[in-house]
Amino acid sequence: MNIPFVDLQRQYQNIKSEIDLAIKNVLDTSHYIGGPIVTNFENDFAKLIGVKHCIGVANGTDAIYIVLKSLGIGEGDEVITVANSWISTSETISQTGAKPVFVDINPETYTIDVDKIEEKITKKTKAIIPVHLYGQMAEITVIKTICQRYNLFLIEDCAQSHLSEENGVLAGTTGIAGTFSFYPGKNLGAYGDAGAVITNNDDLASKMRMYANHGALVKHKHQMEGINSRLDTIQAVILHAKLPHLKNWTQKRIDNANQYNQLITNTDITKPKTRSLTKHTFHLYVIRHKKRDALQQFLQSKGIQTAIHYPTALPNLPAYQYLNHQPSDFPIASSFQNEILSLPMFPELTNDEIEYVSQILNQF
Ligand SMILES: *Cc1c(COP(=O)(O)O)cnc(C)c1O
Repeated sequence: MNIPFVDLQRQYQNIKSEIDLAIKNVLDTSHYIGGPIVTNFENDFAKLIGVKHCIGVANGTDAIYIVLKSLGIGEGDEVITVANSWISTSETISQTGAKPVFVDINPETYTIDVDKIEEKITKKTKAIIPVHLYGQMAEITVIKTICQRYNLFLIEDCAQSHLSEENGVLAGTTGIAGTFSFYPGKNLGAYGDAGAVITNNDDLASKMRMYANHGALVKHKHQMEGINSRLDTIQAVILHAKLPHLKNWTQKRIDNANQYNQLITNTDITKPKTRSLTKHTFHLYVIRHKKRDALQQFLQSKGIQTAIHYPTALPNLPAYQYLNHQPSDFPIASSFQNEILSLPMFPELTNDEIEYVSQILNQF
Protein backbone atom coordinates (compact mmCIF):
# COMPACT_ATOMS: atom_id res chain seq x y z
CA MET A 1 0.00 0.00 0.00
CA ASN A 2 1.27 3.50 -0.83
CA ILE A 3 0.31 6.10 1.73
CA PRO A 4 1.18 9.76 1.16
CA PHE A 5 2.06 12.06 4.03
CA VAL A 6 -0.60 14.51 2.82
CA ASP A 7 -2.98 14.12 -0.12
CA LEU A 8 -4.53 17.41 -1.23
CA GLN A 9 -6.05 15.75 -4.29
CA ARG A 10 -8.58 13.75 -2.26
CA GLN A 11 -9.96 16.85 -0.60
CA TYR A 12 -10.21 18.70 -3.91
CA GLN A 13 -12.08 15.81 -5.54
CA ASN A 14 -14.60 15.85 -2.65
CA ILE A 15 -15.43 19.54 -3.08
CA LYS A 16 -14.47 20.00 -6.75
CA SER A 17 -17.80 21.44 -7.90
CA GLU A 18 -17.82 24.10 -5.14
CA ILE A 19 -14.22 25.10 -5.73
CA ASP A 20 -14.44 25.19 -9.52
CA LEU A 21 -17.56 27.34 -9.38
CA ALA A 22 -15.97 29.71 -6.86
CA ILE A 23 -12.83 30.18 -8.97
CA LYS A 24 -14.88 30.63 -12.13
CA ASN A 25 -16.85 33.33 -10.34
CA VAL A 26 -13.65 35.32 -9.76
CA LEU A 27 -12.46 34.78 -13.33
CA ASP A 28 -15.82 35.98 -14.67
CA THR A 29 -15.61 39.21 -12.70
CA SER A 30 -11.82 39.49 -13.23
CA HIS A 31 -11.48 41.26 -9.88
CA TYR A 32 -8.24 39.76 -8.58
CA ILE A 33 -7.16 41.94 -5.65
CA GLY A 34 -9.42 42.90 -2.75
CA GLY A 35 -13.14 43.38 -3.20
CA PRO A 36 -16.16 41.85 -1.47
CA ILE A 37 -14.94 38.25 -1.74
CA VAL A 38 -11.86 39.01 0.37
CA THR A 39 -13.99 40.97 2.83
CA ASN A 40 -16.51 38.13 3.05
CA PHE A 41 -13.80 35.64 3.88
CA GLU A 42 -12.25 37.96 6.47
CA ASN A 43 -15.64 38.51 8.11
CA ASP A 44 -16.56 34.84 8.13
CA PHE A 45 -13.19 33.74 9.49
CA ALA A 46 -13.42 36.39 12.25
CA LYS A 47 -16.94 35.18 13.05
CA LEU A 48 -15.85 31.53 13.16
CA ILE A 49 -13.08 32.31 15.64
CA GLY A 50 -15.18 34.87 17.49
CA VAL A 51 -13.00 37.98 17.12
CA LYS A 52 -13.66 41.52 15.89
CA HIS A 53 -11.07 41.75 13.12
CA CYS A 54 -9.50 39.50 10.53
CA ILE A 55 -7.00 40.93 8.07
CA GLY A 56 -6.18 38.71 5.13
CA VAL A 57 -2.51 38.82 4.17
CA ALA A 58 -0.21 37.13 1.66
CA ASN A 59 1.03 34.30 3.93
CA GLY A 60 1.49 33.23 7.53
CA THR A 61 5.02 34.56 7.72
CA ASP A 62 3.97 38.08 6.73
CA ALA A 63 1.17 37.79 9.28
CA ILE A 64 3.72 37.56 12.13
CA TYR A 65 5.92 40.29 10.65
CA ILE A 66 2.95 42.64 10.25
CA VAL A 67 1.91 42.19 13.89
CA LEU A 68 5.44 42.81 15.18
CA LYS A 69 5.95 45.93 13.01
CA SER A 70 2.51 47.30 13.89
CA LEU A 71 3.28 46.90 17.60
CA GLY A 72 6.41 48.99 17.05
CA ILE A 73 8.84 46.17 17.77
CA GLY A 74 12.29 46.63 16.24
CA GLU A 75 15.97 47.41 16.84
CA GLY A 76 17.06 47.00 20.46
CA ASP A 77 14.06 44.84 21.38
CA GLU A 78 13.95 41.17 22.27
CA VAL A 79 11.12 38.77 21.49
CA ILE A 80 10.84 35.39 23.19
CA THR A 81 9.80 32.38 21.17
CA VAL A 82 10.19 28.61 21.10
CA ALA A 83 13.15 26.49 19.99
CA ASN A 84 11.08 24.04 17.93
CA SER A 85 9.06 25.71 15.20
CA TRP A 86 9.12 26.62 11.55
CA ILE A 87 11.64 29.40 10.90
CA SER A 88 8.90 31.97 10.12
CA THR A 89 8.34 32.44 13.84
CA SER A 90 11.89 33.62 14.49
CA GLU A 91 12.99 35.09 11.15
CA THR A 92 10.21 37.66 11.30
CA ILE A 93 11.50 38.78 14.72
CA SER A 94 14.98 39.31 13.24
CA GLN A 95 13.53 41.07 10.19
CA THR A 96 12.09 43.81 12.41
CA GLY A 97 15.60 44.38 13.81
CA ALA A 98 14.73 42.71 17.13
CA LYS A 99 16.53 39.71 18.60
CA PRO A 100 14.84 36.30 18.79
CA VAL A 101 15.29 34.73 22.24
CA PHE A 102 14.64 31.00 22.23
CA VAL A 103 13.11 28.89 25.00
CA ASP A 104 13.35 25.08 25.12
CA ILE A 105 10.28 22.88 24.69
CA ASN A 106 8.19 20.97 27.19
CA PRO A 107 9.09 17.26 26.81
CA GLU A 108 5.43 16.17 27.05
CA THR A 109 3.79 18.57 24.62
CA TYR A 110 6.70 19.88 22.49
CA THR A 111 5.39 23.45 22.92
CA ILE A 112 7.28 26.23 24.75
CA ASP A 113 8.34 25.22 28.29
CA VAL A 114 6.52 27.80 30.40
CA ASP A 115 8.84 27.17 33.36
CA LYS A 116 11.80 28.40 31.31
CA ILE A 117 10.28 31.64 29.99
CA GLU A 118 10.85 34.00 32.92
CA GLU A 119 14.62 33.37 33.08
CA LYS A 120 14.82 34.72 29.49
CA ILE A 121 12.99 37.98 30.19
CA THR A 122 15.19 41.10 30.24
CA LYS A 123 14.57 44.87 30.19
CA LYS A 124 14.58 44.62 26.40
CA THR A 125 11.87 41.96 26.12
CA LYS A 126 8.78 43.29 24.36
CA ALA A 127 6.76 40.23 23.38
CA ILE A 128 6.33 36.48 23.58
CA ILE A 129 5.34 34.41 20.54
CA PRO A 130 4.24 30.93 21.60
CA VAL A 131 3.55 28.49 18.78
CA HIS A 132 0.51 26.23 19.03
CA LEU A 133 2.49 23.40 17.49
CA TYR A 134 1.12 20.39 15.61
CA GLY A 135 -2.43 21.51 16.50
CA GLN A 136 -1.90 21.58 20.28
CA MET A 137 -2.08 24.89 22.09
CA ALA A 138 0.89 26.07 24.12
CA GLU A 139 -0.04 26.72 27.78
CA ILE A 140 -1.70 29.99 26.91
CA THR A 141 -3.23 30.77 30.30
CA VAL A 142 0.15 30.53 32.01
CA ILE A 143 1.86 32.50 29.23
CA LYS A 144 -0.78 35.21 29.45
CA THR A 145 -0.12 35.58 33.18
CA ILE A 146 3.61 35.96 32.50
CA CYS A 147 2.91 38.57 29.81
CA GLN A 148 0.70 40.54 32.19
CA ARG A 149 3.27 40.36 35.00
CA TYR A 150 6.05 41.76 32.79
CA ASN A 151 3.86 43.94 30.54
CA LEU A 152 4.70 42.05 27.34
CA PHE A 153 2.67 41.62 24.16
CA LEU A 154 1.37 38.12 23.57
CA ILE A 155 1.30 37.09 19.90
CA GLU A 156 -0.02 33.62 19.09
CA ASP A 157 1.39 31.76 16.09
CA CYS A 158 -1.68 29.75 15.05
CA ALA A 159 -0.36 28.51 11.69
CA GLN A 160 -0.88 24.92 12.86
CA SER A 161 -3.86 25.41 15.16
CA HIS A 162 -7.05 26.44 13.35
CA LEU A 163 -9.89 25.80 15.85
CA SER A 164 -7.58 24.42 18.57
CA GLU A 165 -8.75 25.18 22.10
CA GLU A 166 -7.61 25.43 25.71
CA ASN A 167 -10.48 25.38 28.20
CA GLY A 168 -12.93 26.33 25.46
CA VAL A 169 -10.84 29.32 24.38
CA LEU A 170 -9.82 29.24 20.72
CA ALA A 171 -6.23 29.63 19.55
CA GLY A 172 -5.50 33.20 18.55
CA THR A 173 -7.98 34.91 20.88
CA THR A 174 -5.97 35.27 24.11
CA GLY A 175 -3.11 37.48 22.94
CA ILE A 176 -3.16 40.90 21.32
CA ALA A 177 -3.15 39.10 17.95
CA GLY A 178 -3.17 35.63 16.41
CA THR A 179 -1.53 34.79 13.11
CA PHE A 180 -2.69 32.12 10.69
CA SER A 181 -1.21 30.44 7.64
CA PHE A 182 -3.36 29.04 4.86
CA TYR A 183 -0.44 27.31 3.12
CA PRO A 184 -1.97 24.43 1.08
CA GLY A 185 -1.07 21.71 3.62
CA LYS A 186 -2.35 23.58 6.70
CA ASN A 187 -5.67 22.59 8.30
CA LEU A 188 -7.35 25.33 6.26
CA GLY A 189 -5.34 25.54 3.06
CA ALA A 190 -5.48 27.78 0.01
CA TYR A 191 -4.21 26.78 -3.45
CA GLY A 192 -1.15 28.95 -3.08
CA ASP A 193 0.17 31.20 -0.33
CA ALA A 194 -2.27 32.94 2.01
CA GLY A 195 -2.52 34.01 5.64
CA ALA A 196 -4.38 36.19 8.11
CA VAL A 197 -4.08 38.09 11.37
CA ILE A 198 -6.89 38.24 13.90
CA THR A 199 -7.31 40.70 16.77
CA ASN A 200 -9.92 42.34 18.98
CA ASN A 201 -7.89 45.57 19.14
CA ASP A 202 -9.35 48.23 16.81
CA ASP A 203 -6.20 50.38 16.70
CA LEU A 204 -3.92 47.49 15.98
CA ALA A 205 -6.32 46.17 13.33
CA SER A 206 -6.30 49.39 11.34
CA LYS A 207 -2.52 49.76 11.70
CA MET A 208 -2.00 46.23 10.43
CA ARG A 209 -4.40 46.68 7.53
CA MET A 210 -2.54 49.85 6.62
CA TYR A 211 0.93 48.35 6.98
CA ALA A 212 0.00 45.35 4.82
CA ASN A 213 -1.21 47.66 2.09
CA HIS A 214 1.70 50.12 1.55
CA GLY A 215 0.79 52.14 4.62
CA ALA A 216 -2.55 53.24 3.15
CA LEU A 217 -6.15 52.44 4.12
CA VAL A 218 -7.37 54.49 1.14
CA LYS A 219 -5.54 54.37 -2.19
CA HIS A 220 -2.75 56.98 -2.48
CA LYS A 221 -3.21 58.16 1.13
CA HIS A 222 0.00 56.68 2.51
CA GLN A 223 0.22 57.44 6.22
CA MET A 224 3.54 55.61 6.36
CA GLU A 225 5.64 53.17 4.38
CA GLY A 226 4.36 49.64 4.50
CA ILE A 227 4.63 46.45 2.53
CA ASN A 228 2.57 44.68 -0.12
CA SER A 229 1.04 41.69 1.62
CA ARG A 230 -2.46 41.06 0.35
CA LEU A 231 -4.69 38.02 0.35
CA ASP A 232 -5.59 37.73 -3.33
CA THR A 233 -9.16 37.20 -4.44
CA ILE A 234 -8.72 33.72 -5.93
CA GLN A 235 -7.18 32.43 -2.70
CA ALA A 236 -9.91 34.19 -0.70
CA VAL A 237 -12.71 32.57 -2.71
CA ILE A 238 -11.13 29.13 -2.28
CA LEU A 239 -10.76 29.66 1.47
CA HIS A 240 -14.33 30.96 1.68
CA ALA A 241 -15.61 27.84 -0.07
CA LYS A 242 -13.59 25.61 2.25
CA LEU A 243 -14.47 27.39 5.50
CA PRO A 244 -17.83 25.62 6.09
CA HIS A 245 -15.96 22.27 5.95
CA LEU A 246 -13.29 23.16 8.49
CA LYS A 247 -15.08 21.83 11.58
CA ASN A 248 -15.80 18.51 9.92
CA TRP A 249 -12.23 18.19 8.61
CA THR A 250 -10.90 19.01 12.08
CA GLN A 251 -13.06 16.29 13.64
CA LYS A 252 -11.76 13.79 11.07
CA ARG A 253 -8.17 14.63 12.03
CA ILE A 254 -9.04 14.08 15.69
CA ASP A 255 -10.74 10.76 14.85
CA ASN A 256 -7.69 9.69 12.84
CA ALA A 257 -5.42 10.56 15.76
CA ASN A 258 -7.61 8.56 18.14
CA GLN A 259 -7.35 5.61 15.82
CA TYR A 260 -3.55 5.86 15.67
CA ASN A 261 -3.53 6.15 19.48
CA GLN A 262 -5.47 2.91 19.76
CA LEU A 263 -3.68 0.89 17.11
CA ILE A 264 -0.04 1.82 17.76
CA THR A 265 1.08 -0.59 20.48
CA ASN A 266 4.84 -0.59 19.94
CA THR A 267 6.19 0.46 23.34
CA ASP A 268 9.38 1.95 21.84
CA ILE A 269 7.18 4.58 20.26
CA THR A 270 6.08 7.67 22.21
CA LYS A 271 2.68 8.78 21.01
CA PRO A 272 1.51 12.41 21.18
CA LYS A 273 0.04 13.58 24.49
CA THR A 274 -2.92 15.90 24.56
CA ARG A 275 -3.06 18.17 27.61
CA SER A 276 -6.29 17.85 29.57
CA LEU A 277 -9.00 20.43 28.84
CA THR A 278 -7.53 21.16 25.43
CA LYS A 279 -8.65 20.43 21.90
CA HIS A 280 -5.69 19.20 19.84
CA THR A 281 -6.57 19.57 16.15
CA PHE A 282 -3.78 17.34 14.86
CA HIS A 283 -2.31 19.37 12.07
CA LEU A 284 0.42 16.79 12.58
CA TYR A 285 0.52 13.45 14.39
CA VAL A 286 4.06 13.32 15.74
CA ILE A 287 5.60 10.25 17.38
CA ARG A 288 9.07 9.74 18.86
CA HIS A 289 11.46 6.83 18.52
CA LYS A 290 15.15 6.52 19.51
CA LYS A 291 15.93 5.02 16.09
CA ARG A 292 13.91 7.56 14.13
CA ASP A 293 15.93 7.48 10.91
CA ALA A 294 15.81 3.70 10.66
CA LEU A 295 12.08 3.77 11.40
CA GLN A 296 11.50 6.37 8.71
CA GLN A 297 13.42 4.22 6.20
CA PHE A 298 11.49 1.11 7.19
CA LEU A 299 8.18 2.93 6.70
CA GLN A 300 9.39 4.27 3.35
CA SER A 301 10.26 0.73 2.25
CA LYS A 302 6.65 -0.23 3.01
CA GLY A 303 5.27 2.66 0.95
CA ILE A 304 4.54 4.98 3.88
CA GLN A 305 5.62 8.57 3.49
CA THR A 306 6.52 10.54 6.63
CA ALA A 307 8.08 13.92 7.44
CA ILE A 308 10.00 15.63 10.24
CA HIS A 309 8.83 18.82 11.97
CA TYR A 310 11.57 19.88 12.42
CA PRO A 311 14.87 18.10 11.77
CA THR A 312 16.92 20.94 13.31
CA ALA A 313 15.72 23.02 16.24
CA LEU A 314 15.82 26.71 15.35
CA PRO A 315 18.77 27.74 17.59
CA ASN A 316 20.85 24.92 16.06
CA LEU A 317 20.36 26.15 12.48
CA PRO A 318 23.25 27.85 10.63
CA ALA A 319 20.90 30.86 10.33
CA TYR A 320 21.28 31.42 14.09
CA GLN A 321 24.99 30.71 14.44
CA TYR A 322 25.41 34.41 15.17
CA LEU A 323 23.59 33.93 18.48
CA ASN A 324 26.32 31.46 19.58
CA HIS A 325 23.97 28.89 21.08
CA GLN A 326 25.04 25.35 21.98
CA PRO A 327 22.65 22.41 21.50
CA SER A 328 23.01 21.88 25.27
CA ASP A 329 21.32 25.27 25.82
CA PHE A 330 18.12 23.62 24.53
CA PRO A 331 18.53 20.01 25.66
CA ILE A 332 14.98 18.81 24.97
CA ALA A 333 14.56 20.38 21.53
CA SER A 334 18.09 19.32 20.57
CA SER A 335 17.55 15.67 21.45
CA PHE A 336 13.97 15.46 20.17
CA GLN A 337 14.99 16.80 16.74
CA ASN A 338 16.54 13.36 16.17
CA GLU A 339 13.54 11.38 17.47
CA ILE A 340 10.37 13.05 16.16
CA LEU A 341 8.52 11.71 13.14
CA SER A 342 5.27 12.97 11.60
CA LEU A 343 2.96 10.21 10.36
CA PRO A 344 0.52 10.55 7.44
CA MET A 345 -2.28 12.84 8.65
CA PHE A 346 -5.09 14.50 6.72
CA PRO A 347 -8.88 14.37 7.05
CA GLU A 348 -9.39 11.98 4.12
CA LEU A 349 -6.96 9.34 5.42
CA THR A 350 -8.91 6.05 5.55
CA ASN A 351 -9.28 3.58 8.41
CA ASP A 352 -7.51 0.93 6.33
CA GLU A 353 -4.57 3.22 5.78
CA ILE A 354 -4.27 4.04 9.48
CA GLU A 355 -4.48 0.33 10.30
CA TYR A 356 -1.74 -0.42 7.79
CA VAL A 357 0.59 2.33 9.07
CA SER A 358 0.03 1.21 12.67
CA GLN A 359 0.64 -2.41 11.82
CA ILE A 360 3.96 -1.56 10.13
CA LEU A 361 4.92 0.63 13.10
CA ASN A 362 4.20 -2.26 15.48
CA GLN A 363 6.44 -4.55 13.41
CA PHE A 364 9.48 -2.28 13.81
C1 LIG B 1 3.39 27.36 8.17
C2 LIG B 1 3.89 28.09 9.36
C3 LIG B 1 4.18 29.47 9.32
C4 LIG B 1 4.27 30.28 8.08
O1 LIG B 1 3.25 30.24 7.21
P1 LIG B 1 3.45 30.52 5.65
O2 LIG B 1 2.05 30.72 5.19
O3 LIG B 1 4.11 29.33 5.04
O4 LIG B 1 4.28 31.74 5.50
C5 LIG B 1 4.51 30.11 10.51
N1 LIG B 1 4.59 29.42 11.66
C6 LIG B 1 4.36 28.10 11.73
C7 LIG B 1 4.45 27.41 13.04
C8 LIG B 1 4.02 27.39 10.57
O5 LIG B 1 3.79 26.07 10.65
